[in-house]
Amino acid sequence: MSAGKLYLHPGRSTIDTDKVLDRLRHMAFIGAPYRHAAAPDSRRWLAGERFPRLITFLGCSPHLAFKPPEDGSDDFCHIQLDGPHASPRFRHGRNTRAAQCPACRFRPDDWKSLIAHAKADANTPWTCPACATVTPLGELSWRRNAGSAAVFIVVHSVFPNEAVPNPELIDALRQASGNIDWRHFYVQ
Ligand SMILES: [Zn+2]
Repeated sequence: MSAGKLYLHPGRSTIDTDKVLDRLRHMAFIGAPYRHAAAPDSRRWLAGERFPRLITFLGCSPHLAFKPPEDGSDDFCHIQLDGPHASPRFRHGRNTRAAQCPACRFRPDDWKSLIAHAKADANTPWTCPACATVTPLGELSWRRNAGSAAVFIVVHSVFPNEAVPNPELIDALRQASGNIDWRHFYVQ
């Protein structure tokens, strides 16, 4: 089983990304900038000193690597900024499963095609056949297996559901973004 990624995001809210990054730097969630040779334009950081106190690791994640491997891959625990994008993007993985209507919990059978449409445009409106509520595809209840936002803080190389953001981290994100509640999900 390969490791996955933890995505933290403010949903559909627009935030001051620099302010959030300053806060994450100040609380030592992120450390020194890290340049990944295969994606030199992506903004990444090594895990900061207090990272292990801001994420709780459950299960068997004892061998977290915090240094870039010698093979030049980015398969180690570090942080990346995904965005900000002009419109919400949908992020999903092999672990993404059936979505539900956020209003009535109806579970559409065609969720695989909904994933494809959400990937093309997270804002594509979906009308629930059960309750007629219209929801952008990215905003369906994807549980913790997918999600959409215009900006994400991504933690690389963690196992789904085993890396849980602590209240201190969630509170800091909320404060730095003007009282916006952040959510999280995992892709693998
Ligand atoms: Zn519904």
